[in-house]
Amino acid sequence: MTALRSGSATDTGVVRTNNEDALLVAEPLFAVADGMGGHAGGEVASMVAVEALRAAFEQNPTADGLVEAVQQANRAVLERAAADAELRGMATTLTALALVDVDGEPRLVLVNLGDSRAYLLQQGELSQLTEDHSLVEELVREGQMSPEEAAVHPQRHIVTRALGIGSVVEPDVWQILPYRGDRLLLCSDGLINEVTEPEIASVLRRETDPQAASGELVSLARQHGGADNITVLVVDVVDDDDRARAASAAVGSERNRSPAALDRGGNEVSVDTHPPARTAETEDRAAPPSPPRVRHRRLTLRVVVFVVILIALLGAAVWAVGYYARGGYYVGIDHGQVTIFKGRPGGLLWIEPTVAERTTLAETKVLPAELPGLRSGHTEGSLKEARTYVANLRTEADQAGVGPDQTTTTTAP
Ligand code: MG
Repeated sequence: MTALRSGSATDTGVVRTNNEDALLVAEPLFAVADGMGGHAGGEVASMVAVEALRAAFEQNPTADGLVEAVQQANRAVLERAAADAELRGMATTLTALALVDVDGEPRLVLVNLGDSRAYLLQQGELSQLTEDHSLVEELVREGQMSPEEAAVHPQRHIVTRALGIGSVVEPDVWQILPYRGDRLLLCSDGLINEVTEPEIASVLRRETDPQAASGELVSLARQHGGADNITVLVVDVVDDDDRARAASAAVGSERNRSPAALDRGGNEVSVDTHPPARTAETEDRAAPPSPPRVRHRRLTLRVVVFVVILIALLGAAVWAVGYYARGGYYVGIDHGQVTIFKGRPGGLLWIEPTVAERTTLAETKVLPAELPGLRSGHTEGSLKEARTYVANLRTEADQAGVGPDQTTTTTAP
């Protein structure tokens, strides 16, 4: 049986007067929400969201159920805002994690909307699982802003996706295979903005008790300024049905578990089949949790797009080489006769020139001054130009009195 152990802490911080973050610990469901909105809006939005999430997930504690619970939570926030003028425009981020059963296998399902975050500490290595839905992070992902600029940008707090904004939300969804020793961190931006990732990783590696780790992270954020509300949730996988050990035993064999994935709308997709038209992100956790670490855990959409573009570029390059290599004509000498070739003198890469036309002009009739050029291949842009060049050679030969020659050309078979 897969077992979890959690710890959590939330704090108003040093500067704010109220805590608009909400925390949900309802094993096997965990969530962090960071509310926004005037008056009591932020506090209400985050609280309504996690409470609606809990109630809906309880009715259907599955992977699909969690995604549907996010929609329910969104509706709950919208309804509450519509019922109270003071709460109009309130919204909240939501990062939730649930342990569910998928086809008889335990899975951690992670959903995210907004700029709260989830991290995974595995084998001592901390990696960010979620992508912020914030204006600046999207610009960073598009390469239009550096992470350094984003960190100090005045609009860095603007979120592009959250609960309470529209009637339908599109959470990012991941499925993660839980391994004993895995440690998940859910947190609001009040932690991220004050404590660096190396500092976070250091605390998570050192402090084994999830409650103590949560408390220490909140304390650090307060010490560093505590400008925002701070919420930290640490979930440890303390038992995994010996899957970690089984995976270690399987090292060397091909990956024995298929990575599962959900699209951003929460529909399950198989990595083996064509993903739906919407963007799909997979969380490949099939790497056995024993050293040496396989660092490429995630097959992201970006990687797939990169590979497709690379293949397209290679195809275009091959085509371009072929086009160039076969595109021109040159006049050379073949078996003692002046000959028009299609292609490039000497060939190009794997593409050899071919005979376009054999002329009746013998090498011996050509003026000696022209021979070196002919032997290395005299390039012309088209067949017509090549023929003109041959006609000129013939005229030159005639004028020099080398002797008349036949004036017809024949096309090669
Ligand atoms: Mg915040």
